Amino acid sequence: MQHDNVVRKESFLARHRIQPGRIVNICFISVLIFSTLLTWREVVVLEDAYAASQRNHLENVVNSLDRQLEFSVEKLLFFRNGMYDALEAPLASTVLRDTVSRFNSLRDKPFWQLTFDERRTLPVNGVSDAFVEQSTALQRDDTQIVNELSAAFEVGYLLRISSPERLVKKVTYVSRAGFYVSTDPTDWRDDITARYYQLVTRPWYVGQTERDNPSRSVRWFTQPAQAEAENGQTVTVSVPVDFKRYWYGVLAIDFSFSTLKHLLQDAVNGRGEGEYQLYDNRFNLLATSVSDASNVYRFDAREMAQIAHAREENTHGVMRVGSRYVNWQNLDHFEGVLLRMHTLSEGARGDFGSISIALALLWLLFTSMLIGSWLVIRRTVGNMSTMQQSLQWQAWHDPLTRMNNRGALFERAQALALKCQQLKQPYSVMQLDLDYFKNVNDKFGHQAGDKVLTHAAGLITSTIREGDVAGRVGGEEFCIVLPDTSLEEAAQIAERIRARIYRREILVKKSRTTRISVSIGVSSAQESGNYDFEQLQSIADARLYQAKQRGRNQVVSQEPIK
Ligand code: GH3
Ligand code: MG
Ligand code: MG
Repeated sequence: MQHDNVVRKESFLARHRIQPGRIVNICFISVLIFSTLLTWREVVVLEDAYAASQRNHLENVVNSLDRQLEFSVEKLLFFRNGMYDALEAPLASTVLRDTVSRFNSLRDKPFWQLTFDERRTLPVNGVSDAFVEQSTALQRDDTQIVNELSAAFEVGYLLRISSPERLVKKVTYVSRAGFYVSTDPTDWRDDITARYYQLVTRPWYVGQTERDNPSRSVRWFTQPAQAEAENGQTVTVSVPVDFKRYWYGVLAIDFSFSTLKHLLQDAVNGRGEGEYQLYDNRFNLLATSVSDASNVYRFDAREMAQIAHAREENTHGVMRVGSRYVNWQNLDHFEGVLLRMHTLSEGARGDFGSISIALALLWLLFTSMLIGSWLVIRRTVGNMSTMQQSLQWQAWHDPLTRMNNRGALFERAQALALKCQQLKQPYSVMQLDLDYFKNVNDKFGHQAGDKVLTHAAGLITSTIREGDVAGRVGGEEFCIVLPDTSLEEAAQIAERIRARIYRREILVKKSRTTRISVSIGVSSAQESGNYDFEQLQSIADARLYQAKQRGRNQVVSQEPIK
């Protein structure tokens, strides 16, 4: 019954090939994958939060900068409205009329200046009729000029009271009718003709024609550096002044780059690390939040194109440029974009960076602990399965001869008997007993006896065929089961075994050899058609007894059993 259990257990394990080591591997790999996925998920969430905080920083700066620039835009519109009012209802004072008549006397001069009330308004600086006539873009319409001059004085008044302004370099009104008003006193003193020519050739003036600005809205322009070398680079916001379908001129506010830098730094103030850069729509760098010019990051043409492409699709976004995160957002009141650059090392120093590093370290710690315990468990499982195998072997084998033990032989013999019966094959059993074995022990000692026993077992095992099963069933008794073997064949094999054992000189002690013999009884299922192993064995045993009786060292396979 106990053997039955052992057999069933072994066959179950063999059938399903359950390897504990493999199960341990699968468990550990699952835990590792699961923990790595979890950590990765955390990192993704963190990265999203980081990106959101970056966007938030940028948005705040954009809003703050936008508010400042919006103020300038509104001021420009306020001046334009002032001019509209003045054009709608011109002043009709005698002083003004005098001024107009003074203009008529000066209009042929190469350049001229009209002042109205120096303490209250700004001077109007102009060029000759001849100058205006040279260009088709300029026009001095006599029906409009009186009102326009009067409006220019009024806007001059507004400009004077609203300046000087800290952030604004200057405000200008440039008329198509050959004159201008400016808050910058150097514009009144120098060569007025050259100055007027300069003004009407500026992009912020030229870009306000009906064709270039059909919506007649506020537009921003960046002055190329070389053209304005003496005054530094400027950014100009300008708006055309149109009234009753007549284009009078352009109102403009100039900002120096240093002003923009100042505005940007004010807006950035304390809003995280990283560099902010303000660009116009042509990607001219206007201002950066970095004080030291050598630290300013310069995008190459390819990176610029990448950002420009992204801007075509959206008003804000984020991208990776090399080791930098670049967040960008268009401004509402400025034709440009603000960029925020954050390097990887800046990111690592921040809150999100330190959490990510802690997370990575935790994962590393967990993974190394997991691998450590995996190694220990793998080794333990390995040892256990080796031990299990050795126990199993011991349960089935005789330790001295390494043959099947009695129990194992019975199990296998019975199984083979059943198989042979089903297949209608012959089935034979052989019982062996070494002759006068007691004498070997007595003569050479027990150890030598063991040696002889092992030797005899080796000879038996090497003589039988692969499908045969041999076992040690007693002290110096063996049994061999021979499936698909007739009685005659079995008797021949028995004879071969007997002869081999008898022939062999066995070394029992140093330079002492001995010979032994064996008596064998053979039985077969074909004799009576009975496949019962135990019965066949007892027949073989009786024939073995016969062999002993007849003088030993012989095979008996035919004597009838009484
Ligand atoms: P025979 O069978 O020819 O009648 O003579 P025998 O001497 O072999 O007789 P018996 O079967 O009575 O004796 C068997 C002896 O085998 C008894 C025991 O001393 C010896 N023996 C049994 N098992 C072992 C063993 O494991 N090692 C050694 N050395 N001797 C064993
Ligand atoms: Mg015996
Ligand atoms: Mg014996």
